[in-house]
Amino acid sequence: MIPHSRPTLDAQDEAAMLSVIRSGHIAQGKEVTCLEDELARFIGVKHAVAVSSGTAALHLGLLALGIGSGDEVIIPTFVCTALLNAIRYVGGTPVLADIGEADFNIDPQDVKRKCSAKTRAIIVPHMFGLPADIDHLVSIGVPMIEDCAHALGSTYRGRKVGSFGRLAIFSFYATKMVTTGEGGMVATDDDLLAARVRNLRDYDEKPDDRVRFNYKLTDIQAALGRSQLGKIDSFIHRRREIAARYTGYLSSLCASVPHVPEGRTHVYFRYCISCRDVEASLTFTARMGITCRRPVFRPLHHYVGQRDNPVADKIWRDTLSIPIYPTLRENEVSRICSALDRLHRNGWI
Ligand SMILES: *Cc1c(COP(=O)(O)O)cnc(C)c1O
Repeated sequence: MIPHSRPTLDAQDEAAMLSVIRSGHIAQGKEVTCLEDELARFIGVKHAVAVSSGTAALHLGLLALGIGSGDEVIIPTFVCTALLNAIRYVGGTPVLADIGEADFNIDPQDVKRKCSAKTRAIIVPHMFGLPADIDHLVSIGVPMIEDCAHALGSTYRGRKVGSFGRLAIFSFYATKMVTTGEGGMVATDDDLLAARVRNLRDYDEKPDDRVRFNYKLTDIQAALGRSQLGKIDSFIHRRREIAARYTGYLSSLCASVPHVPEGRTHVYFRYCISCRDVEASLTFTARMGITCRRPVFRPLHHYVGQRDNPVADKIWRDTLSIPIYPTLRENEVSRICSALDRLHRNGWI
């Protein structure tokens, strides 16, 4: 069975973790500091603060911005529930916006419509590795948190995503662009915001008894993260190579392919295709030994019962995510292309 997703781990990753274990210092320490410095340099921001997950990064990012009870935070409906949870942790009110049909990213026009006097932030995930319409979103004038969980390494007008928002968050979950098993990061140019996140992520030896968290990353995880981050360019290169195979094949079938707008680069965290019968295609490809998925389990407005978001509903109904990751072998890519051919003959793509 070809899995939908798989981490990319090698002997160098093992050796990096082993050397931390042998050193006897395994909790947050100098490996974490080095990973923070390396990520900050990679993105091109002043500060990066490591935490235990992308969700923890969102939580502390919202607290650092002073968001709490009664404050509205706009997020796209077509994303995982981590965003909804983080807003609820701080007592905020999530307001859902629809997405664009061409890039699956939050729709700036709909964000404008959903702004109110209580809007305090927008969280902007760069979905599936393609940057959102950042200029347009920034021009709205509401503080932006970039969610780069899918998009480590992608660029917008020549600059890495994660350097445009007041804050940016990253996830190092097992199947993200780079992994520490579980882990995350907050990146920012703002000294005060960085200091607040740093202060909140751990509880020990503080001058007061404010509520704080234990959201630390370990040095074992950070060593893995450093080893992984060192390979990000080759990971992206391989993802783009596979994407080019799929795009070439789909184009030869006259099927639709992902569109990359001018001025943005895609890192292909996911490769999504338009599909007339997702349920049938999931069953059909599973029988061929290939695990495909819906790229988002369920739009958030299905959970919270907010007004319909027609584009997200259509994309959810009609979009299939096919395997793409650096360890996908050439023969597996060929098998997936054969499956695409069969889906095409069935009239589904
Ligand atoms: C994975 C993910 C998160 C949450 O990260 P965790 O490390 O799993 O907590 C947040 N936003 C997006 C877009 C994600 O894909």
